[in-house]
Amino acid sequence: MKEIDVDKLVLELVGRVAGEIGTILYSLQLEDEFTDDKLALELGIDISEIRKALFAMYEIGIAEYKRKRDDETGWMEYYWRINYSRAREVLKRELEKTKKKLEEKIDSESNAIFYICPNYCIKVSYDDAIELNFYCPKCGSMLNYLDCENAIRNLKEEIKKIDEILKTL
Ligand SMILES: [Zn+2]
Repeated sequence: MKEIDVDKLVLELVGRVAGEIGTILYSLQLEDEFTDDKLALELGIDISEIRKALFAMYEIGIAEYKRKRDDETGWMEYYWRINYSRAREVLKRELEKTKKKLEEKIDSESNAIFYICPNYCIKVSYDDAIELNFYCPKCGSMLNYLDCENAIRNLKEEIKKIDEILKTL
């Protein structure tokens, strides 16, 4: 079996939720606590962008923060820490979430009957297709029964891939 690169998968996940800036921040391997305003200065990236990325990482549990009042200025400061040690756990949880969504999609695809125009103008439910007498209202072609088997097979393939990764985590 192909070796699974957990670090790469985590980085992809961070990129998906926190964008390019999230990827940059995560790659910095910041072992110590840091404030977002200082980091913004050091990196020359807008503080709102940094905060947005950090909060997105916080949402999935890969970053955490404490708020402290600065004694000198009286301002609230955010002290951040990136949870590199929890990366595997976070990845596992997110993959399980994705898997659940895919399974739900399979359920809905399996239960639904669709009709589609051969020119791809519309995709409608069985009831709507009856209303239309099985003709496309745009181009007048006869609607075809949509075979969902391919889509379902692809979803199952994706789930299989996720299962293989989950086995190693
Ligand atoms: Zn059509």
